[in-house]
Amino acid sequence: MITNEKILALTEEAEEKLDKIFRKFDKTSYKNTVKIMEAFARHRVDESCFAGTSGYGYGDKGRDTLDEIWAEVFGAERAFVRHNIVSGTHALAIALFGILRPGDIMLSVTGKPYDTLDEVIGINGKNGDGSLADFGVEYMQTDMKNGTIDLEALKEKLEENKDRVKMVFIQRSKGYMNRKTLSCDEIGEAVKTVRSICDAYVVVDNCYGEFVEEKEPTACGADLVIGSLIKNPGGGMAESGGYIAGTSRAVELCSYRLTSPGVGLECGASLNQNKNMYRGLFYAPHTVASALKTAALASYIFEKLGYGVSPSYDEERHDIIQTISFGAKEPLCAFCRGIQAGSPVEAYVTPEPWDMPGYSDEVIMAAGTFVSGASVELSADAPIREPYTAFFQGGLTYESGKYGIMTAAEYLLKELEK
Ligand SMILES: *Cc1c(COP(=O)(O)O)cnc(C)c1O
Repeated sequence: MITNEKILALTEEAEEKLDKIFRKFDKTSYKNTVKIMEAFARHRVDESCFAGTSGYGYGDKGRDTLDEIWAEVFGAERAFVRHNIVSGTHALAIALFGILRPGDIMLSVTGKPYDTLDEVIGINGKNGDGSLADFGVEYMQTDMKNGTIDLEALKEKLEENKDRVKMVFIQRSKGYMNRKTLSCDEIGEAVKTVRSICDAYVVVDNCYGEFVEEKEPTACGADLVIGSLIKNPGGGMAESGGYIAGTSRAVELCSYRLTSPGVGLECGASLNQNKNMYRGLFYAPHTVASALKTAALASYIFEKLGYGVSPSYDEERHDIIQTISFGAKEPLCAFCRGIQAGSPVEAYVTPEPWDMPGYSDEVIMAAGTFVSGASVELSADAPIREPYTAFFQGGLTYESGKYGIMTAAEYLLKELEK
């Protein structure tokens, strides 16, 4: 039970202030839920869709129907969702290798992509592991300007390399960078700019962005959106998986990389995972709204406690990530210990900073989740370096997210009393 008077009062105050904002999240959740339920009805979802297949998985009705529903919900021509896509990185790698050929250029227009893609693209100085660079795919990037895509720089790079840029790559969410998350409309503007110059595929890393708005980047003209089922669109129900949605040809090319040329989406046993993915999609808009409410609540509380937050509680949100900067190691670690203690699973564990392979600073991570590593459930992580910023996201239910945030605030205040 939370007993700290200051935190109880602050939470009460926050919820009053956030009432209108919470209603906006609920409205978006309702619109996306309706979209999903109408698609379920149109595609006649019934018990037979939940039956699993084994072996080759030919004619898996549940799998094929969910692919069609996914395309519709994402405003795309075609899509595939698979439990055996192991992560967001895997889904992104399928798309990059599905589309790009030797001699092509991949142009990232949101600065350097998410860390785990360094080795996929081959910009980590290593070679021989079969990165895009090993296969003769060239990588270029333009950085963001004034918090959005630098359309002038994009135009310039495209004009210079018109015949070779096969893919323009956009990361929607800030991920773990100090930048703004893009809205679908901003992505739509970039799509227009690309189309005015050449016919490169516009590919969007959609991680953490799904169902935060009433539409997805595919509905704004992007050729592909890609994401992970242990984030937003799995709704906390999918046990694992990833998805790719977009234009017919782009998705078809990805399907040949998912399985093999010729096989595409004909095969792939669902092994009884269909129901979790259907149910996850059904829950996803609501789960995302819970995560957004949790983030806004935390933003309000920790700003009032004197810490730097982004976004602020009343700023428009385009993903579920919230950052809080603590300015010193001890309060940051106390916050993470509180998030862990306020989790439904492994609440007894004490997170400690450690030297994680591949990171230059120590990292502290807090997560007590039903699905291992799921970041749509409440979790936080932070590199131990200036300005001691925690990135956190999730909250399967607002009630549990609120409890987690209040517990973290309590741990923080206790640390400060020392
Ligand atoms: C999570 C994430 C990924 C993929 O990460 P996985 O851990 O492999 O699922 C890629 N890009 C962004 C922006 C992400 O947030």
